Amino acid sequence: MATEAEAWCEACEAWREEDQCPACGQVLVDAEPPPVPWHFKFLVVATVLYLVWRAVQLVVWWIG
Ligand SMILES: [Zn+2]
Repeated sequence: MATEAEAWCEACEAWREEDQCPACGQVLVDAEPPPVPWHFKFLVVATVLYLVWRAVQLVVWWIG
């Protein structure tokens, strides 16, 4: 018994078991999950860099 392939509907941002989305009627052919958007990765990297920078500032203030 094969597992059912699910398709991602970008319009509804939801997984559909059907070949055609029952909500919006879009034909779903791509079963790939949506990739992580680049701006989200950028936000994570920027946040980490900011926290590291604040930690350095705290240590400098603490010592000095
Ligand atoms: Zn849809």
